[in-house]
Amino acid sequence: MKYLAVSFALVLSLTTQAQPRSDYWQQSADYTIHVDFDHKSHRYSGTQSIAYTNNSPDTLRKVFFHLQYNAFQPGSNMDERSRDIADPDRRVGDRIAGLSESEIGFMNVTNLNHDGEEAELESFGTVLKVHLPKPIPPNTKAQFDLQFEAQSPKQIRRSGRHNKEGVHYSMAQWFPKLANYDRFGWNTTPYVGREFYGIWGDFDVHINIDKMYTLAGTGVLQNAEDIGYGYSRSKNKRGSGKQSWHFSAEQVHDFMWAADPEYVHKTHQVPNGPLLRFFYKEKDNEFTENWEAMPGYMERFFLLADSLVGPYPYPEFSFIQGGDGGMEYPMATLMLGRGKIKGMVGLAVHEAMHNWFYGMIATNESRYPWIDEGFTTFVENIIMMELFPDEDSRGLPHYSNYLSYLQQWSADATEPLTTPADHYITNRGYGVASYSQGCMYLVNMQYIVGEEVFWKGFRNFFNRWKFHHPHPEDFVREMERESGLQLQWFNDLWVGTTQAIDIGVDTVFEEDGFTHIVLRRHQELPFPATIALVSENTTPEVHHVPIDLMYGRKGESGVQHRPWKWAARTYTLKVERPLSDIDAVYVDPFFETADVDRRNNRWSKEE
Ligand SMILES: [Zn+2]
Repeated sequence: MKYLAVSFALVLSLTTQAQPRSDYWQQSADYTIHVDFDHKSHRYSGTQSIAYTNNSPDTLRKVFFHLQYNAFQPGSNMDERSRDIADPDRRVGDRIAGLSESEIGFMNVTNLNHDGEEAELESFGTVLKVHLPKPIPPNTKAQFDLQFEAQSPKQIRRSGRHNKEGVHYSMAQWFPKLANYDRFGWNTTPYVGREFYGIWGDFDVHINIDKMYTLAGTGVLQNAEDIGYGYSRSKNKRGSGKQSWHFSAEQVHDFMWAADPEYVHKTHQVPNGPLLRFFYKEKDNEFTENWEAMPGYMERFFLLADSLVGPYPYPEFSFIQGGDGGMEYPMATLMLGRGKIKGMVGLAVHEAMHNWFYGMIATNESRYPWIDEGFTTFVENIIMMELFPDEDSRGLPHYSNYLSYLQQWSADATEPLTTPADHYITNRGYGVASYSQGCMYLVNMQYIVGEEVFWKGFRNFFNRWKFHHPHPEDFVREMERESGLQLQWFNDLWVGTTQAIDIGVDTVFEEDGFTHIVLRRHQELPFPATIALVSENTTPEVHHVPIDLMYGRKGESGVQHRPWKWAARTYTLKVERPLSDIDAVYVDPFFETADVDRRNNRWSKEE
């Protein structure tokens, strides 16, 4: 009964979402999956029913599925790309090319019925094209019933078996997943390395597997009283034979599970928040005490994330040792089980934060990986500063992301954020763009609109778009609404080009009793300037110079000035003070922008 009650409350909170925009629509897909798992061959077969609703204004004559396990085969796009790229992920390298028949991953849909009629299937490696026996008109439902068989690969990345930390199964990307159709059409990105985009729906998953395994994953276990294994006080049913685990999850766009015979399972209730579950291997793990410290840190994380962004809506969250980096999934994360405490907490905070930016704000990650990674990193940085206040970030939460952006820019290797996730020239280019340039997008935006307005807009964006699929422009519109400023120019330049910010103090002189401060734009990106005038015996005086493209000014205290015309290289700021009164002038005095050359940001009398 307890689970039913939780479940009912969740349905109410998750389905009363208003449409974020009058012309907005999104598809929905509810899954019922049954699999029978053979741990000796690492193979499983299953049936899958999908109740699909076409809310689009279009008639669909085909649909696509992702068959992501097919990436773990010699000659796949993932294999070719990894052996071609200049800086391959060391965890992948040429390992896929060397997989034997029993070590590869595969996923085959053996047949698929659409409303009882058999569909024609055409396979393209990790993507399956389904020619429908009849069209699906707008605003109608379709039922897909399919059978599939699969083999869990030797772990290469994210998903698979027997990784270097010895976890038996990390089952991500493990079922035929319907591709999303949005206003730009079908998302048919082959699985090459990263980034996922799914359809919202309810998942009902039944896994029949040997009794030796403790399972963890997305969703809430429905037969906990039967199972035990730390989910209820019932006794575990170790011994020979299989048992069936029944999980369900409401309003998620993916489903992951993991299994290991040695998982320790601990729980911790966050006050007015989710029940946290921790699954890890204690045996031969010298970092077990870090796992024991995790519940305290993660309780603080959930409280901070709730207040910074918005409430976590699901009843549970699981931190699961997957043994290969960290990766986000709805209501759960797979993460390394060994490491120093700050590293483990940082990884857990990052992946759990993705339940807001990926889990709830579900942008198309193959097109805009910088939204889920950049937004997650931005909030993660602020939370990590709270959790580990004495670390060396100079009091600046985003300092390390600024440095990695700056390093890439200085090497002339920056790639624009419009690059599709799998098509960056290097893995480093992808990483710097998605995490650091994405994070600096928000840092710069906060400087343009002012901190208070920024956070209002940020939360409004989250609340309006949670459980939907926004595009970058939707964030800009929210910030424009909240600030009253025009901001598309910044989005277009920061996202669409690699132009950089560099505003410096050129000269300072006195004329007619006024101090003249000449500002210079050294790089291409036009940008507003906040200036501090410093003198020995008074508090610094703050001045704001907007640019004309904003058609307004940020609402922060300080002296406001006429706008700087965007095409003009220089701007002269006149201050009603004699020069003898001013010891130094700083542009961006609080280090709040991604200015690429800070040496010219300061003028001082002595120099
Ligand atoms: Zn991430």
